[in-house]
Amino acid sequence: MSATRIATFSLISLFALRFCALAQGPATPPPASTQPADQVNPWVAAAPAPGPELCQCESAECTSLSQISSVALHPFASEHFVVLHAAQDTWGRRVAGLLEKANTEFYASIRKAGYDAQPLPNRLIWVCFRGMDDFEQYSRQNDQIDMSWTDGYYSARTNRVALMLPAGAAVRQGDGVEVAAAARVAQFGPQPDTRPAGEDRLDQRWITHELAHQLSFNYGLQKRGVMYPLWLSEGLATNFEADNQGRFGFGRDNTPRRRSLLSAYTHGRLTPLRRFVAMDRLESSGEAQARQDYAECWGLYRFLSQQRPDQLRQYLLTLKALDSGNREGAVLRREFVEAFGPIEQMQSDWEDWLDGLVVAAAKNAKP
Ligand SMILES: [Zn+2]
Repeated sequence: MSATRIATFSLISLFALRFCALAQGPATPPPASTQPADQVNPWVAAAPAPGPELCQCESAECTSLSQISSVALHPFASEHFVVLHAAQDTWGRRVAGLLEKANTEFYASIRKAGYDAQPLPNRLIWVCFRGMDDFEQYSRQNDQIDMSWTDGYYSARTNRVALMLPAGAAVRQGDGVEVAAAARVAQFGPQPDTRPAGEDRLDQRWITHELAHQLSFNYGLQKRGVMYPLWLSEGLATNFEADNQGRFGFGRDNTPRRRSLLSAYTHGRLTPLRRFVAMDRLESSGEAQARQDYAECWGLYRFLSQQRPDQLRQYLLTLKALDSGNREGAVLRREFVEAFGPIEQMQSDWEDWLDGLVVAAAKNAKP
């Protein structure tokens, strides 16, 4: 990635994360493809055959969204989601299937952890674009923001996830899309390329990450309009996202995030809690720093959910009761201290926990 591209990513991402924190808003299967599954290009637009599995655009929102792209978007409805997309039918069905499975896991996890879950309001919407121009235009029109630095995001303003998929196909389309794909690597790290092409197009880690954001706001762990610290929003998403083996859910280890975290810790690069808990967005211009910040979000959330689960639950409830709007970093820090105790003690406990991870990793590395 060139320096210019990194700068663009940084600038926009800072704004984007702030936006995310502040935005407010209140079958009959289709004909089988003649191509083998691993040769199907999921972004070849094909008019889906009508059938009971296809959403009949039950809402005005769904109807208008299906017409916003230069390539018509076809809805695929499952029990809790509508996936509007310009791919082949099989792709919409597979995404919806993954979303339903992950939704079941998310709900069970938060109930087990003692959180109340409010009912989902309606089907949650995912809008999946075939062309980068359409994706960018959508972002500008619906979220008043330039999202050309990424190829997918959850918006608390619209309550939708918008995607540009897949990175593998998108890169072939031009320079601007390469920037987008690179930005995702910055957040998630390189993706393992071990699956057949058809499966690989469904980036489970990325999809489950964005889904976790959407479900956190819709099940009531977070409230749209309230500003959240970076570590909490991204900690929730990174602790739920799928790992390299496609397993997802809270409470699991996340090998890439853990390795990134421990590498930063053992090299003395982690951001001290005093500063980290006051951040409401990424502050770095580099891919490596962004990846490290995500890993620190993962670790801090995991540490608190293991060592201070009751305080973490109360902290989420306290933030949810706040009014919409901006809060300064000093206020975020004060809220953290009120919930978890003096920052110096937390820093010490956090480092003890990290030391435990280092020891465990060394033990596991021994033959
Ligand atoms: Zn995220």
